[in-house]
Formats: sequence, C-alpha cells, structure tokens
Amino acid sequence: MSALLEVRGLSVEFDLKDGTVSRVIDGLNFELAAGRTLGIVGESGCGKSMTALAIMRLVPVPPGRIAEGAIRLAGENLLDATEARMRDVRGNDVSMIFQEPMTSLNPVYTIGDQIGETVRLHQGLGRREARDRAIEMLRAVSIPAPEKRVDEYPHQLSGGMRQRVMIAMALACQPQVLIADEPTTALDVTVQAQIFDLLKELQQQTHAAVILITHDMGAIAEMAQRVVVMYAGRKVEEAPVDEMLTNPKHPYTRGLIACVPHLEADPALERPPLMEIPGVVPSVAELGRGGCPFAPRCAEAMDRCRQDMPPETAVGEDHTAACWLYPDAEAAA
Ligand code: SF4
Repeated sequence: MSALLEVRGLSVEFDLKDGTVSRVIDGLNFELAAGRTLGIVGESGCGKSMTALAIMRLVPVPPGRIAEGAIRLAGENLLDATEARMRDVRGNDVSMIFQEPMTSLNPVYTIGDQIGETVRLHQGLGRREARDRAIEMLRAVSIPAPEKRVDEYPHQLSGGMRQRVMIAMALACQPQVLIADEPTTALDVTVQAQIFDLLKELQQQTHAAVILITHDMGAIAEMAQRVVVMYAGRKVEEAPVDEMLTNPKHPYTRGLIACVPHLEADPALERPPLMEIPGVVPSVAELGRGGCPFAPRCAEAMDRCRQDMPPETAVGEDHTAACWLYPDAEAAA
C-alpha cells in the first residue's frame, strides 16, 4: 500500500494565558492510501479535530502553531507550502465536512451559489458551468429535484439534506483526501446510516482517501478499514478495524469499545448494557506533564505509569499500542 497522505511526528502547541505552552498533539504518526478510510477515534478534547485543522494548515496562529513534524500529500510536505499553495490545496486536494452544517453553510446565499463558488474558485468555471456543476453534485448526493433545490437557502432544507449539501461542496472539486469530522453527530440514526452509505458510494466512485473523525466506534466499524485511537493528543493504539474491535490492547480502547451500547447485558463479559470510562480527559493545561496521561482513569495503572510516558510499540501483527502493560514497551523505552 503506497501512502497518499503521510503524517509523521506531528506536534501542535498552544500558548496558554499563564505563559505556559500546552502540546495538544504530540508526535502523531499515521498514513493513508487512496480509496481507503482511516478512522480517528477518541473522546472530545483528545486532539482529533486539531489533527484535521493541522492537515488543512488551519491551526489558529497565534496562540497555536505546528511545532514539529511533516504532513506529506503525494510526497509534498504541506508544512513547507506557501499560503497561496495551501489555498489551492484546501478544497481542491483536501476537503473537509464539518459536524454542524448550519454553522458551515452561509445562510444568506443559496446552496447553488455556495457549491458553485467552490468550483469557480478552484477550477475556474464560469457562472453557468458552476451552476450546472452544483446541480450535478446535488444529484450525486441524492437530493431530490436538484434543479429546484439549487436555488434554495440552507434554512429551507432538513438537517440530513444540509449535511448532503456539505458533502456535495466537499466533493465538488474531487479532492484526493476528504476529512469528515463527526459528519453525522447532529443527525438521527436513520439519516446517519444514509449519510454513511452515501459517503461509501461516493468514495468508490472518486477513489478519495477518507479520514473519519468520530467518538463513535460503531461508525468506525461501519466505514473504516483501519483505526487510530487518540487520547490527550497522542496516538495510543493503531490497528486494522477488525483486529481493534476483537482484540483491543490499550485499556482506553477497551473502555471505548465497552461504551458502545448493547441491547442486553452480556453475561459472558459480565457487563451491563451501557458502560462508561470513569473520570474526564485531561485539560489543555495538564497535557504533557509526564507519565501516561490515561493513568488517573486506568484500572491497571502501575507506579511506572505515573512517571514515564509509554512509547508506541508492536503488540501484534500490524498492531501498535502505547502502554506499559506490554513487554516491548520496556525494550523500546
Ligand atoms: Fe494504564 Fe499504565 Fe497502560 Fe497507561 S501505561 S494505559 S496507565 S496500564
């Protein structure tokens, strides 16, 4: 598998008001090939969305900055690109679908104008061609009567249709990489399933690489071939999806999987229908304090966990985790 997108040693820092520096992403590595989907999973505040902003080079500077690393798209390090080049990359090569379309769509322009503007800006189409392209994209995302809907405003559409418009906008320029940040969180369950089906169908047609950012392991199982679990700005585990779901190694991943609701208690696993991971993710000010950041919430924490950060090590074939429970961690330290 040759990588289309490669993220190597990515670290993002923010200056805090008290003069200290918080490392909100710390040494993140992953790669993704064309036509494949990588899930990035974790609770709110674990660094998933910041990873997406870093790939788009949209980390707010100041107070933030990309401190280290490389983000290579088809071999080009985006961290060395000029701002003019990045304007070209955003939308054209790498596109993003956000969680809440109402905050991303402009309420005073028709959806046709908004999709059309993307292709006029990035592909130099004229007004008439851009409108035709907008209709074509609305049809591609299964919006009924696209010739009529193209002149409607966002508030005239349902939540599910607005999310379809966001997908149409994101895919209008046929990007190589699509980042979907919690794309179905604001939608009800049946509409979520439709949006996932649509994303998969469009991915098959365009061969785009997709990064699906979510807190929902169910969505990962549905969409992705591979998954990265993040906690407190670090990758704590990475594996193919089936392996991760059946053989999770990191205590945090096991907790996330146990949190997926079950219709009935599972007597074999002695677990109730719904579980929770006790405690909360560390605040921005607490990041990077040494030791495993999950230690305050981990039932298996040992003395060493509170002192030293566990390195990422192999815990199986094509499976890594950062946890002192595994013997290779000692050798890698
Ligand atoms: Fe738990 Fe220690 Fe592993 Fe961290 S390193 S997840 S505290 S066992």
